[in-house]
Amino acid sequence: MRLEDPLFTSEIRARAALEKARWPDGPVCPHCNAAERIARIDGQSHRDGLLYCNQCKRQFTVTVGTVFQGSKIALTKWLLAIHLLATRAQLSVSELQRLLGVTYKTAWLMARRLRKGTGEAYLDDAVLAEASRAVAAAAPREDRGKRQAEQPAVH
Ligand SMILES: [Zn+2]
Repeated sequence: MRLEDPLFTSEIRARAALEKARWPDGPVCPHCNAAERIARIDGQSHRDGLLYCNQCKRQFTVTVGTVFQGSKIALTKWLLAIHLLATRAQLSVSELQRLLGVTYKTAWLMARRLRKGTGEAYLDDAVLAEASRAVAAAAPREDRGKRQAEQPAVH
């Protein structure tokens, strides 16, 4: 994967790919393991990627129970860190810091968390790359519309 891959540049795409990787058959509630009657909560007032379980009446996102939980670091940066650690031997914390655009302390903490082992099989460079491709194939039109909308108007 190139570092310009949407997986590493778009928070929406990163989240979608992570969901695809973690839940290939659709969201599963981390609280009660229900795989049905899960609703997506959309709207400006809600956190991105918020889901609601109609079984146990609790909310969750794809990061609940992962090494990302509770961190303020963007998912794009976490996924890029996973990719870099998987593909570059002898990657130093300074290099990670530079490539991620975070502080040295943050890069160090991320590397430590990821190297300790996430215990999550889907947090794997190949699995995430595959999920990213699946997401891209599923929503090409949406992406195009978004890219056009980001273009500044020319008069
Ligand atoms: Zn539940």
